[in-house]
Amino acid sequence: MRAVTQKPGEWVDGFLFVANRPILDLLSTRPVLAQGPVELLPDVQALERWLVASGMVRSAKAKSLMRGRQRSREAALFLKGLVAFRERLRDAVLRIEGGSTPSDEFIEEVNRGLLQHPLMTALHKQEGRIVREPLFDPQRPADLWIPIFDATANLLREPEVRRLRKCEGCAVHFFDTSKKGSRRWCSMNICGNKFKVAAYQRRKRDGDQVPLR
Ligand SMILES: [Zn+2]
Repeated sequence: MRAVTQKPGEWVDGFLFVANRPILDLLSTRPVLAQGPVELLPDVQALERWLVASGMVRSAKAKSLMRGRQRSREAALFLKGLVAFRERLRDAVLRIEGGSTPSDEFIEEVNRGLLQHPLMTALHKQEGRIVREPLFDPQRPADLWIPIFDATANLLREPEVRRLRKCEGCAVHFFDTSKKGSRRWCSMNICGNKFKVAAYQRRKRDGDQVPLR
């Protein structure tokens, strides 16, 4: 699926990752194209690919759990819940970008999720230091909510909310981690160049110095 002209890292296994926050990239799994919205998570197999591509599921054990439960009702329920949650998250992100805050209902939903699916952590030694790291050891499909709610909570409490924005050329949301904080596009490859060409053509059209052919 990956086109050779696409920058490595922007597309992984057919999914777009440009947001610097996988939870924001989740919003791009339902892009609105010319023919209307397209669901990129139509089944559990696609969901499994996205969870691995996003890095939300990393360990071999977690991957094999997902594979073993692909056809289970629990996995189907998780997928159904997640695609509905994705749209409520989209609404929360749009509200933040509009200078407001997410609805109280959404905050309550995330709080319930954090209580029901808490992220455990553990200490271990690394190069002579003690580090504290997430301990994510899913036993059932519903445990996949753990990284979803954790990442959502981290996004919502983000202090630099002005860095959360929508691409000027499309509907992709991203978190601007650039030093200057002046990123405007989801990606230079996808929208940046398109805008530069359009601006160049406009200048050419409007400029009286440009000879007409
Ligand atoms: Zn864009």
